[in-house]
Amino acid sequence: MIDKQPSCDDVLEPALLPVEEARRRLFASLQPISESLDVPILKALNRVLAQGIVSPVNVPPQANSAMDGYALARASIPVGGEAALRVVGTAWAGKPFAERVETGQAVRIFTGAIMPEGSDTVVIQEHVRLESQTASGEGCIDIDSEVIAGKNVRQAGEDVARGQVILSQGRKLQAADIGVLASLGIARVRVFRPLKVAFFSTGDELCALKDHEPGTELAPGMLFDSNRYTMAGLLAGLHVDVIDMGIVRDNESDTRRAMLDAAAAADVVITSGGVSAGDADFVTRVFHEIGQVSFWKLAMRPGRPLAYGQIGSAAFFGLPGNPVAVMVTFLEFVQPALKHLAGMSEREPLLLPARCLSSLRKPPGRVEYQRGVMSLDAEGDLVVESTGKQGAGRLSSMSMANCLIVIASDSLAIAYRFNPFMGCYRGNVCQLTSSCLSPWKW
Ligand code: AMP
Ligand code: MG
Repeated sequence: MIDKQPSCDDVLEPALLPVEEARRRLFASLQPISESLDVPILKALNRVLAQGIVSPVNVPPQANSAMDGYALARASIPVGGEAALRVVGTAWAGKPFAERVETGQAVRIFTGAIMPEGSDTVVIQEHVRLESQTASGEGCIDIDSEVIAGKNVRQAGEDVARGQVILSQGRKLQAADIGVLASLGIARVRVFRPLKVAFFSTGDELCALKDHEPGTELAPGMLFDSNRYTMAGLLAGLHVDVIDMGIVRDNESDTRRAMLDAAAAADVVITSGGVSAGDADFVTRVFHEIGQVSFWKLAMRPGRPLAYGQIGSAAFFGLPGNPVAVMVTFLEFVQPALKHLAGMSEREPLLLPARCLSSLRKPPGRVEYQRGVMSLDAEGDLVVESTGKQGAGRLSSMSMANCLIVIASDSLAIAYRFNPFMGCYRGNVCQLTSSCLSPWKW
Protein backbone atom coordinates (compact mmCIF):
# COMPACT_ATOMS: atom_id res chain seq x y z
CA MET A 1 0.00 0.00 0.00
CA ILE A 2 1.48 3.36 -1.04
CA ASP A 3 1.35 6.12 1.58
CA LYS A 4 -0.01 8.95 -0.65
CA GLN A 5 1.51 12.44 -0.28
CA PRO A 6 -0.61 15.60 -0.51
CA SER A 7 -1.26 16.54 -4.15
CA CYS A 8 -3.50 18.57 -6.48
CA ASP A 9 -5.81 15.53 -6.66
CA ASP A 10 -6.74 15.70 -2.99
CA VAL A 11 -10.30 16.78 -2.33
CA LEU A 12 -9.63 18.04 1.17
CA GLU A 13 -6.08 18.91 2.09
CA PRO A 14 -5.81 20.59 5.49
CA ALA A 15 -2.34 22.02 4.71
CA LEU A 16 -3.81 24.30 2.02
CA LEU A 17 -4.13 27.92 3.08
CA PRO A 18 -7.64 29.37 2.60
CA VAL A 19 -7.74 32.09 -0.08
CA GLU A 20 -9.06 34.73 2.33
CA GLU A 21 -6.21 34.11 4.80
CA ALA A 22 -3.69 34.29 1.95
CA ARG A 23 -5.18 37.61 0.86
CA ARG A 24 -5.02 38.92 4.43
CA ARG A 25 -1.33 37.97 4.70
CA LEU A 26 -0.65 39.45 1.28
CA PHE A 27 -2.10 42.88 2.04
CA ALA A 28 -0.65 42.96 5.57
CA SER A 29 2.81 42.55 4.04
CA LEU A 30 2.57 45.13 1.25
CA GLN A 31 3.93 48.64 1.73
CA PRO A 32 2.64 51.01 -0.99
CA ILE A 33 5.34 53.07 -2.69
CA SER A 34 5.74 56.62 -1.41
CA GLU A 35 7.98 58.26 -4.06
CA SER A 36 6.07 60.67 -6.22
CA LEU A 37 6.74 63.04 -9.10
CA ASP A 38 5.20 66.17 -10.51
CA VAL A 39 3.87 65.71 -14.08
CA PRO A 40 1.85 67.69 -16.64
CA ILE A 41 -1.74 66.40 -16.58
CA LEU A 42 -1.54 64.81 -20.04
CA LYS A 43 1.27 62.61 -18.71
CA ALA A 44 -0.83 61.76 -15.65
CA LEU A 45 -3.35 59.57 -17.50
CA ASN A 46 -3.50 56.11 -15.79
CA ARG A 47 -1.13 57.29 -13.06
CA VAL A 48 -2.10 57.26 -9.39
CA LEU A 49 -2.63 60.61 -7.63
CA ALA A 50 -0.23 61.18 -4.75
CA GLN A 51 -2.21 64.21 -3.53
CA GLY A 52 -5.84 65.10 -2.99
CA ILE A 53 -7.11 67.81 -5.37
CA VAL A 54 -9.13 70.65 -3.82
CA SER A 55 -10.80 72.86 -6.37
CA PRO A 56 -9.37 76.41 -6.36
CA VAL A 57 -12.34 77.73 -8.37
CA ASN A 58 -16.04 77.38 -9.12
CA VAL A 59 -16.97 75.57 -12.33
CA PRO A 60 -18.68 77.24 -14.03
CA PRO A 61 -17.15 80.43 -12.61
CA GLN A 62 -20.36 82.47 -13.05
CA ALA A 63 -24.02 81.64 -13.68
CA ASN A 64 -24.53 81.34 -17.46
CA SER A 65 -27.18 80.41 -19.96
CA ALA A 66 -27.68 76.75 -20.91
CA MET A 67 -29.71 77.71 -24.01
CA ASP A 68 -30.16 80.34 -26.71
CA GLY A 69 -33.04 82.62 -25.66
CA TYR A 70 -33.84 85.65 -23.50
CA ALA A 71 -32.51 86.37 -20.01
CA LEU A 72 -34.95 88.08 -17.65
CA ALA A 73 -36.00 88.35 -14.03
CA ARG A 74 -38.71 85.79 -13.25
CA ALA A 75 -40.44 88.58 -11.33
CA SER A 76 -41.08 90.38 -14.67
CA ILE A 77 -43.58 87.68 -15.66
CA PRO A 78 -46.99 87.90 -13.96
CA VAL A 79 -48.95 84.80 -12.84
CA GLY A 80 -50.45 83.27 -15.99
CA GLY A 81 -47.31 84.00 -17.99
CA GLU A 82 -48.53 86.86 -20.29
CA ALA A 83 -45.89 89.55 -20.71
CA ALA A 84 -44.43 91.96 -23.23
CA LEU A 85 -40.77 92.78 -22.52
CA ARG A 86 -38.31 95.24 -23.98
CA VAL A 87 -35.09 93.66 -25.27
CA VAL A 88 -32.27 95.99 -24.18
CA GLY A 89 -29.17 94.23 -25.57
CA THR A 90 -27.34 90.97 -26.26
CA ALA A 91 -25.14 88.67 -24.11
CA TRP A 92 -22.72 86.44 -26.05
CA ALA A 93 -20.49 83.62 -24.79
CA GLY A 94 -17.26 85.44 -23.95
CA LYS A 95 -18.89 88.90 -24.44
CA PRO A 96 -21.13 89.68 -21.43
CA PHE A 97 -23.94 92.25 -21.39
CA ALA A 98 -22.46 94.81 -19.02
CA GLU A 99 -25.60 96.54 -17.75
CA ARG A 100 -28.39 95.60 -15.38
CA VAL A 101 -31.66 94.02 -16.59
CA GLU A 102 -34.58 95.85 -15.00
CA THR A 103 -38.12 94.62 -14.40
CA GLY A 104 -39.99 94.56 -17.72
CA GLN A 105 -36.76 94.10 -19.68
CA ALA A 106 -35.00 91.12 -21.28
CA VAL A 107 -31.59 90.49 -22.87
CA ARG A 108 -31.02 88.38 -25.97
CA ILE A 109 -28.68 85.64 -24.67
CA PHE A 110 -26.71 82.78 -26.23
CA THR A 111 -25.54 79.49 -24.70
CA GLY A 112 -22.58 79.98 -22.38
CA ALA A 113 -23.07 83.74 -21.95
CA ILE A 114 -22.93 85.08 -18.40
CA MET A 115 -26.36 85.86 -16.93
CA PRO A 116 -26.64 89.67 -16.85
CA GLU A 117 -27.08 91.29 -13.44
CA GLY A 118 -30.77 91.43 -12.49
CA SER A 119 -31.70 88.31 -14.51
CA ASP A 120 -32.24 84.84 -13.06
CA THR A 121 -34.07 82.89 -15.79
CA VAL A 122 -33.74 82.14 -19.52
CA VAL A 123 -36.78 81.66 -21.74
CA ILE A 124 -35.76 79.69 -24.82
CA GLN A 125 -36.13 81.47 -28.17
CA GLU A 126 -38.66 78.86 -29.37
CA HIS A 127 -41.10 79.98 -26.61
CA VAL A 128 -40.97 83.69 -27.46
CA ARG A 129 -42.63 85.83 -30.15
CA LEU A 130 -40.29 88.50 -31.46
CA GLU A 131 -42.31 91.68 -32.13
CA SER A 132 -39.55 93.92 -33.41
CA GLN A 133 -35.76 93.97 -33.45
CA THR A 134 -33.13 96.50 -34.45
CA ALA A 135 -29.72 95.65 -35.90
CA SER A 136 -28.19 96.04 -32.43
CA GLY A 137 -30.54 93.35 -31.05
CA GLU A 138 -32.94 95.68 -29.28
CA GLY A 139 -36.70 95.32 -29.67
CA CYS A 140 -39.73 93.69 -28.03
CA ILE A 141 -40.76 90.12 -27.21
CA ASP A 142 -44.06 88.54 -26.09
CA ILE A 143 -44.22 85.61 -23.70
CA ASP A 144 -47.51 83.80 -23.06
CA SER A 145 -46.68 80.81 -20.88
CA GLU A 146 -45.59 80.13 -17.28
CA VAL A 147 -41.87 80.56 -16.64
CA ILE A 148 -40.03 78.62 -13.92
CA ALA A 149 -37.51 80.69 -11.96
CA GLY A 150 -33.90 79.65 -12.68
CA LYS A 151 -34.86 77.64 -15.78
CA ASN A 152 -32.09 77.11 -18.39
CA VAL A 153 -29.44 78.65 -16.14
CA ARG A 154 -26.23 76.85 -15.11
CA GLN A 155 -25.44 78.10 -11.62
CA ALA A 156 -21.90 79.10 -10.58
CA GLY A 157 -20.08 76.10 -9.03
CA GLU A 158 -22.81 73.60 -9.93
CA ASP A 159 -20.25 71.28 -11.60
CA VAL A 160 -17.42 71.79 -9.08
CA ALA A 161 -17.53 74.14 -6.09
CA ARG A 162 -14.49 76.09 -4.87
CA GLY A 163 -12.95 74.19 -1.90
CA GLN A 164 -14.52 70.85 -2.89
CA VAL A 165 -12.24 67.76 -2.78
CA ILE A 166 -12.75 66.71 -6.36
CA LEU A 167 -10.15 63.89 -6.64
CA SER A 168 -8.66 61.95 -3.73
CA GLN A 169 -5.16 60.59 -3.24
CA GLY A 170 -4.99 57.04 -4.62
CA ARG A 171 -7.22 57.81 -7.59
CA LYS A 172 -6.05 56.28 -10.87
CA LEU A 173 -6.55 59.14 -13.27
CA GLN A 174 -8.96 58.54 -16.15
CA ALA A 175 -9.71 60.69 -19.20
CA ALA A 176 -12.59 62.46 -17.41
CA ASP A 177 -10.31 63.25 -14.44
CA ILE A 178 -7.73 64.83 -16.72
CA GLY A 179 -10.51 66.95 -18.22
CA VAL A 180 -11.77 67.94 -14.75
CA LEU A 181 -8.23 69.00 -13.75
CA ALA A 182 -8.02 71.13 -16.90
CA SER A 183 -11.44 72.65 -16.12
CA LEU A 184 -10.03 73.79 -12.77
CA GLY A 185 -6.98 75.36 -14.44
CA ILE A 186 -4.66 72.76 -12.88
CA ALA A 187 -1.82 72.01 -15.32
CA ARG A 188 0.38 69.69 -13.22
CA VAL A 189 -0.25 67.09 -10.52
CA ARG A 190 1.80 64.91 -8.18
CA VAL A 191 1.55 61.18 -8.97
CA PHE A 192 3.23 58.10 -7.52
CA ARG A 193 6.13 56.80 -9.55
CA PRO A 194 5.23 53.73 -11.64
CA LEU A 195 5.96 50.30 -10.18
CA LYS A 196 8.79 48.27 -11.69
CA VAL A 197 7.83 44.66 -12.37
CA ALA A 198 10.28 41.98 -13.57
CA PHE A 199 8.94 38.69 -14.92
CA PHE A 200 10.15 35.48 -16.53
CA SER A 201 8.94 32.02 -17.51
CA THR A 202 10.64 28.85 -16.32
CA GLY A 203 10.81 25.50 -18.11
CA ASP A 204 13.15 23.32 -20.18
CA GLU A 205 10.20 22.53 -22.45
CA LEU A 206 9.65 26.16 -23.48
CA CYS A 207 10.47 27.63 -26.88
CA ALA A 208 10.63 31.41 -27.24
CA LEU A 209 8.77 32.72 -30.28
CA LYS A 210 11.87 34.68 -31.33
CA ASP A 211 13.90 31.44 -31.51
CA HIS A 212 11.42 29.62 -33.71
CA GLU A 213 11.82 29.33 -37.47
CA PRO A 214 8.35 30.01 -38.94
CA GLY A 215 6.99 27.00 -40.79
CA THR A 216 9.09 24.46 -38.86
CA GLU A 217 7.69 22.11 -36.24
CA LEU A 218 8.55 22.26 -32.58
CA ALA A 219 10.77 19.43 -31.33
CA PRO A 220 8.81 16.71 -29.51
CA GLY A 221 7.93 17.71 -25.94
CA MET A 222 8.53 21.42 -26.57
CA LEU A 223 5.85 24.10 -26.42
CA PHE A 224 5.73 27.82 -27.07
CA ASP A 225 6.16 30.08 -24.07
CA SER A 226 2.73 31.73 -23.89
CA ASN A 227 2.77 32.73 -20.23
CA ARG A 228 5.15 35.62 -20.78
CA TYR A 229 2.82 37.03 -23.42
CA THR A 230 -0.26 36.64 -21.24
CA MET A 231 1.63 38.30 -18.40
CA ALA A 232 2.89 41.14 -20.57
CA GLY A 233 -0.71 41.76 -21.63
CA LEU A 234 -2.00 41.70 -18.07
CA LEU A 235 0.77 44.04 -16.90
CA ALA A 236 0.18 46.46 -19.79
CA GLY A 237 -3.34 46.98 -18.43
CA LEU A 238 -1.84 48.05 -15.10
CA HIS A 239 0.54 50.67 -16.56
CA VAL A 240 3.61 49.44 -14.69
CA ASP A 241 7.19 49.56 -16.02
CA VAL A 242 8.16 46.03 -17.04
CA ILE A 243 11.42 44.11 -17.29
CA ASP A 244 10.86 41.00 -19.44
CA MET A 245 13.62 38.55 -18.48
CA GLY A 246 12.69 35.86 -21.00
CA ILE A 247 12.84 32.12 -20.30
CA VAL A 248 14.89 30.63 -17.46
CA ARG A 249 15.79 26.96 -17.72
CA ASP A 250 15.02 24.34 -15.06
CA ASN A 251 18.21 24.32 -13.01
CA GLU A 252 19.02 25.69 -9.63
CA SER A 253 21.80 28.11 -10.48
CA ASP A 254 20.01 29.82 -13.41
CA THR A 255 16.85 30.08 -11.33
CA ARG A 256 18.70 31.58 -8.34
CA ARG A 257 20.59 34.06 -10.53
CA ALA A 258 17.42 35.19 -12.30
CA MET A 259 15.43 35.55 -9.07
CA LEU A 260 18.19 37.58 -7.39
CA ASP A 261 18.72 39.81 -10.45
CA ALA A 262 14.99 40.39 -10.79
CA ALA A 263 14.58 41.22 -7.08
CA ALA A 264 17.48 43.70 -7.25
CA ALA A 265 16.02 45.48 -10.30
CA ALA A 266 12.29 45.61 -9.54
CA ASP A 267 9.65 46.29 -6.89
CA VAL A 268 7.82 43.10 -7.82
CA VAL A 269 9.01 39.83 -9.37
CA ILE A 270 6.62 37.44 -11.11
CA THR A 271 7.58 34.01 -12.43
CA SER A 272 5.59 31.19 -13.99
CA GLY A 273 6.17 27.46 -13.52
CA GLY A 274 8.44 25.47 -11.26
CA VAL A 275 6.47 26.03 -8.05
CA SER A 276 5.20 22.48 -7.51
CA ALA A 277 7.07 19.78 -5.63
CA GLY A 278 8.62 18.00 -8.64
CA ASP A 279 12.34 17.38 -9.27
CA ALA A 280 12.34 20.04 -12.01
CA ASP A 281 10.59 22.66 -9.85
CA PHE A 282 13.36 24.98 -8.72
CA VAL A 283 11.47 28.20 -8.09
CA THR A 284 10.00 27.29 -4.68
CA ARG A 285 13.19 25.53 -3.66
CA VAL A 286 15.31 28.62 -4.39
CA PHE A 287 12.63 30.93 -2.94
CA HIS A 288 12.75 29.05 0.40
CA GLU A 289 16.51 29.47 0.34
CA ILE A 290 16.86 33.17 -0.63
CA GLY A 291 13.53 34.74 0.40
CA GLN A 292 10.89 34.95 3.12
CA VAL A 293 8.02 32.68 2.09
CA SER A 294 4.60 33.85 3.22
CA PHE A 295 2.61 31.04 1.56
CA TRP A 296 2.82 28.69 -1.38
CA LYS A 297 -0.06 26.21 -1.23
CA LEU A 298 -3.53 27.68 -1.52
CA ALA A 299 -7.00 26.19 -1.28
CA MET A 300 -7.92 27.30 -4.79
CA ARG A 301 -8.25 25.73 -8.22
CA PRO A 302 -6.58 26.39 -10.52
CA GLY A 303 -3.61 27.88 -8.71
CA ARG A 304 -2.90 25.58 -5.80
CA PRO A 305 0.85 26.22 -5.95
CA LEU A 306 1.15 30.00 -5.71
CA ALA A 307 4.28 31.10 -3.92
CA TYR A 308 4.28 34.56 -2.33
CA GLY A 309 6.72 36.40 -0.09
CA GLN A 310 9.72 38.72 -0.24
CA ILE A 311 13.14 38.47 -1.87
CA GLY A 312 15.19 41.32 -0.45
CA SER A 313 12.97 44.38 -0.77
CA ALA A 314 10.95 42.98 -3.70
CA ALA A 315 7.59 41.24 -3.46
CA PHE A 316 7.80 37.85 -5.13
CA PHE A 317 4.97 35.93 -6.83
CA GLY A 318 5.81 32.44 -8.09
CA LEU A 319 2.79 31.65 -10.27
CA PRO A 320 2.00 28.12 -11.42
CA GLY A 321 2.99 27.05 -14.95
CA ASN A 322 -0.40 26.12 -16.30
CA PRO A 323 -1.58 28.99 -18.51
CA VAL A 324 -5.06 29.33 -16.97
CA ALA A 325 -3.62 29.14 -13.46
CA VAL A 326 -1.26 31.99 -14.40
CA MET A 327 -4.18 34.21 -15.36
CA VAL A 328 -6.40 33.27 -12.41
CA THR A 329 -3.68 33.75 -9.81
CA PHE A 330 -2.64 37.00 -11.49
CA LEU A 331 -6.17 38.39 -11.48
CA GLU A 332 -6.97 37.25 -7.95
CA PHE A 333 -3.67 38.02 -6.21
CA VAL A 334 -1.06 39.81 -8.29
CA GLN A 335 -3.34 42.47 -9.78
CA PRO A 336 -4.88 43.64 -6.47
CA ALA A 337 -1.40 43.56 -4.91
CA LEU A 338 0.08 45.68 -7.71
CA LYS A 339 -2.75 48.20 -7.42
CA HIS A 340 -2.20 48.43 -3.66
CA LEU A 341 1.59 48.80 -4.05
CA ALA A 342 1.11 51.46 -6.73
CA GLY A 343 -0.80 53.57 -4.19
CA MET A 344 -4.27 52.99 -5.63
CA SER A 345 -7.18 53.13 -3.22
CA GLU A 346 -9.39 50.82 -5.31
CA ARG A 347 -8.26 47.22 -5.65
CA GLU A 348 -10.98 44.58 -5.21
CA PRO A 349 -12.81 43.51 -8.37
CA LEU A 350 -16.55 44.14 -8.19
CA LEU A 351 -18.82 41.19 -7.53
CA LEU A 352 -22.32 41.36 -8.99
CA PRO A 353 -25.18 38.88 -8.73
CA ALA A 354 -26.16 36.80 -11.76
CA ARG A 355 -27.97 33.59 -12.64
CA CYS A 356 -25.93 30.63 -13.88
CA LEU A 357 -27.31 28.83 -16.93
CA SER A 358 -24.80 25.96 -16.91
CA SER A 359 -24.57 22.97 -14.65
CA LEU A 360 -21.28 23.26 -12.77
CA ARG A 361 -19.44 20.80 -10.60
CA LYS A 362 -16.58 21.15 -8.16
CA PRO A 363 -15.09 19.24 -5.25
CA PRO A 364 -15.41 20.80 -1.80
CA GLY A 365 -12.43 22.25 0.04
CA ARG A 366 -11.06 24.74 -2.50
CA VAL A 367 -12.34 27.91 -4.11
CA GLU A 368 -12.75 27.23 -7.78
CA TYR A 369 -12.43 29.76 -10.59
CA GLN A 370 -14.18 28.58 -13.73
CA ARG A 371 -14.27 30.43 -17.01
CA GLY A 372 -17.62 31.98 -17.88
CA VAL A 373 -19.38 34.13 -20.42
CA MET A 374 -21.78 36.64 -18.93
CA SER A 375 -24.52 38.43 -20.79
CA LEU A 376 -28.02 39.84 -20.36
CA ASP A 377 -30.99 37.54 -20.96
CA ALA A 378 -34.24 38.54 -22.70
CA GLU A 379 -35.53 40.07 -19.43
CA GLY A 380 -32.37 42.12 -19.05
CA ASP A 381 -31.05 40.05 -16.12
CA LEU A 382 -27.38 39.20 -15.80
CA VAL A 383 -26.70 35.52 -16.61
CA VAL A 384 -23.51 33.48 -16.88
CA GLU A 385 -22.62 30.33 -18.80
CA SER A 386 -19.59 28.08 -18.51
CA THR A 387 -17.14 28.08 -21.44
CA GLY A 388 -17.15 24.27 -21.27
CA LYS A 389 -14.23 22.03 -20.32
CA GLN A 390 -12.18 23.68 -17.58
CA GLY A 391 -8.66 22.15 -17.66
CA ALA A 392 -5.96 24.47 -16.27
CA GLY A 393 -3.98 24.07 -19.51
CA ARG A 394 -6.83 25.25 -21.75
CA LEU A 395 -5.84 28.86 -22.32
CA SER A 396 -8.44 29.10 -25.09
CA SER A 397 -11.15 28.80 -22.37
CA MET A 398 -9.79 32.03 -20.89
CA SER A 399 -9.79 33.64 -24.30
CA MET A 400 -13.47 32.69 -24.78
CA ALA A 401 -14.44 33.91 -21.30
CA ASN A 402 -15.40 37.39 -20.21
CA CYS A 403 -15.59 36.57 -16.50
CA LEU A 404 -14.49 34.10 -13.87
CA ILE A 405 -17.15 32.05 -12.13
CA VAL A 406 -15.95 31.86 -8.54
CA ILE A 407 -17.33 28.89 -6.64
CA ALA A 408 -16.80 29.28 -2.90
CA SER A 409 -14.95 26.41 -1.29
CA ASP A 410 -17.84 24.80 0.60
CA SER A 411 -21.11 26.53 -0.14
CA LEU A 412 -23.36 26.55 -3.14
CA ALA A 413 -22.91 30.28 -3.45
CA ILE A 414 -21.26 31.09 -6.73
CA ALA A 415 -19.42 34.23 -7.54
CA TYR A 416 -18.05 35.31 -10.82
CA ARG A 417 -15.64 38.05 -11.59
CA PHE A 418 -15.38 39.82 -14.83
CA ASN A 419 -11.95 39.66 -16.33
CA PRO A 420 -11.01 43.32 -16.75
CA PHE A 421 -8.81 42.54 -19.72
CA MET A 422 -11.61 41.39 -21.93
CA GLY A 423 -12.84 44.86 -22.48
CA CYS A 424 -16.13 45.64 -20.76
CA TYR A 425 -17.32 46.06 -17.20
CA ARG A 426 -15.50 44.78 -14.14
CA GLY A 427 -16.96 42.01 -12.04
CA ASN A 428 -19.68 40.30 -10.10
CA VAL A 429 -21.09 37.48 -7.91
CA CYS A 430 -23.91 35.16 -8.80
CA GLN A 431 -25.98 33.20 -6.35
CA LEU A 432 -26.58 29.76 -7.79
CA THR A 433 -29.67 27.79 -7.02
CA SER A 434 -28.67 24.37 -5.75
CA SER A 435 -30.17 22.68 -8.81
CA CYS A 436 -27.50 24.31 -10.99
CA LEU A 437 -24.67 22.80 -9.00
CA SER A 438 -24.22 19.12 -9.71
CA PRO A 439 -22.99 17.13 -6.76
CA TRP A 440 -19.31 16.27 -7.08
CA LYS A 441 -18.80 12.53 -7.17
CA TRP A 442 -15.91 11.04 -5.30
P1 AMP B 1 5.16 23.52 -14.12
O1 AMP B 1 4.38 24.05 -12.95
O2 AMP B 1 6.44 24.24 -14.34
O3 AMP B 1 5.31 22.05 -14.02
O4 AMP B 1 4.27 23.81 -15.40
C1 AMP B 1 3.05 23.14 -15.56
C2 AMP B 1 2.67 23.07 -17.03
O5 AMP B 1 2.35 24.36 -17.48
C3 AMP B 1 3.77 22.61 -17.95
O6 AMP B 1 3.78 21.23 -18.09
C4 AMP B 1 3.43 23.28 -19.25
O7 AMP B 1 2.51 22.46 -19.94
C5 AMP B 1 2.72 24.52 -18.83
N1 AMP B 1 3.61 25.67 -18.90
C6 AMP B 1 4.59 26.01 -18.03
N2 AMP B 1 5.19 27.16 -18.39
C7 AMP B 1 4.57 27.57 -19.52
C8 AMP B 1 4.72 28.70 -20.36
N3 AMP B 1 5.64 29.65 -20.09
N4 AMP B 1 3.92 28.82 -21.43
C9 AMP B 1 2.99 27.88 -21.69
N5 AMP B 1 2.79 26.81 -20.92
C10 AMP B 1 3.57 26.62 -19.85
MG1 MG C 1 8.15 23.65 -15.24
